[in-house]
Amino acid sequence: MTFEPFAFHPQINAGISAAGYSTPTPIQHKTIPAILEGRDVLGLAQTGTGKTAAFALPILQRLMNGPRGRLRALILSPTRELAEQTHVAFTHLGRQTGLRSLTVYGGVSAMPQVKGLRAGCEIVVACPGRLLDLMGQGVVKLDTVEVLVLDEADQMFDMGFLPSIRRILAALPRERQTLLFSATMPAEIRELASELLRRPVTVEIGITRPIETISHAIYPVDSTQKLEMLLALLRAQQREAGSGKVLIFTRTKHRAKKLAQQLAHSGIAATSLQGNLSQSQRQAAMDGFRSGRVRVLVATDIAARGIDVSQITHVINFDLPDTSEAYTHRTGRTGRMENLGTALSLVTPDDQPMIRTIERLLGRGLERRKLAGFEHTAQPAAAETMAPTNRPPVSPARPQGSSNRPATSRPAPGRTSAGDRPHDNRPQGNQRPAASQRPAASQRPAPPTRSDAARQSNHSPRRDEPMPTRRG
Ligand code: AMP
Repeated sequence: MTFEPFAFHPQINAGISAAGYSTPTPIQHKTIPAILEGRDVLGLAQTGTGKTAAFALPILQRLMNGPRGRLRALILSPTRELAEQTHVAFTHLGRQTGLRSLTVYGGVSAMPQVKGLRAGCEIVVACPGRLLDLMGQGVVKLDTVEVLVLDEADQMFDMGFLPSIRRILAALPRERQTLLFSATMPAEIRELASELLRRPVTVEIGITRPIETISHAIYPVDSTQKLEMLLALLRAQQREAGSGKVLIFTRTKHRAKKLAQQLAHSGIAATSLQGNLSQSQRQAAMDGFRSGRVRVLVATDIAARGIDVSQITHVINFDLPDTSEAYTHRTGRTGRMENLGTALSLVTPDDQPMIRTIERLLGRGLERRKLAGFEHTAQPAAAETMAPTNRPPVSPARPQGSSNRPATSRPAPGRTSAGDRPHDNRPQGNQRPAASQRPAASQRPAPPTRSDAARQSNHSPRRDEPMPTRRG
């Protein structure tokens, strides 16, 4: 299928061609007709599925008719990065339409935003905090908004934006089209959706299972050996995947920062993306990673939300996440748009209950690999204690000691995500977002919740585990 049946305005079709899109993604295929009809939509989809264009294109189509110079579409985003990316998508896809999009978020001077709003625009992509500030100052009014998009609603909820969203909703016209996108459907979002959406069309695109294009493997290791093992894996990855990018996850922002420094010290082009960076530092980190100048980005879960970086061949869990959902989010940063990717996890004995939880989510065992030189670090009982099923591993077994060959030689265009909330004063690393409690959205084999994992294992998040230091 092509975009032709949607009968977009020729100026929008020009944007689609310029973006290089020839076939709608599944979420676009299902969502665009409903939005064009003016229906409310509940979209259950992760980033990387093409959901931004799924709402941006029909919104542009709607805005082609009607008044210019007044705010008609409002997109609420949890993070600055996602807001920027959405704005860029509107700008690119709508390049020939003359429609104007603006971003509104905190952490940067409000002046350019105020000027832009005063000059007039049809689309605003905003994080809730700064938008409320500007509403309070009378700089922006929402009474002309025709379409509201709540993007990554579960993330906005996790970040504590729900009260702000409710205040924004109170300032919007009751007669409007509302589109809500969320990767998961915790009870609070379900409630919000049933309150806000009128007879919505629900579209669900593979949510809770890590996408099929990712090969998953784990490397048993002692916590003191993690850094050495990571260095060995990165060197192997560089030999085999060349310019492929690597996204590494740690549990806390301090660990992200320290690990990036340790990698850089060891001659690897690495940087960190975590909540302690200023906006310009974040931008520099992202620019470096996007351009390929920095091959390795070390990030926390929150920081990694909302970034869009292509050609990530490997996601490495330096620290395993606390929930299987978070594992899905992390590993979904590679293998985007049906290209292949590799997800590797360094696993200590403490992580075994979470590995079982993830394996249940995947519906099969994760391939255990050993790395030459690290055999003694692997827990001897790992094979018995961690392999829950006799089903085949997710990816074909490789000979012991083999390096982690990338799953594909094709680059993996797609996106990752990152970013902290605009007024993020909460300590990032030492708290779990509410995501850990939220139920999985998909009905497919119900993924176990964090509390399941905790019950099974008495799993402690190991907050005090020291960052391994490099020996020698
Ligand atoms: P999203 O899920 O909106 O973050 O999009 C993920 C990536 O897919 C972005 O880099 C988009 O530019 C890209 N994309 C979106 N729609 C299409 C399409 N129909 N064909 C190819 N790439 C697309």
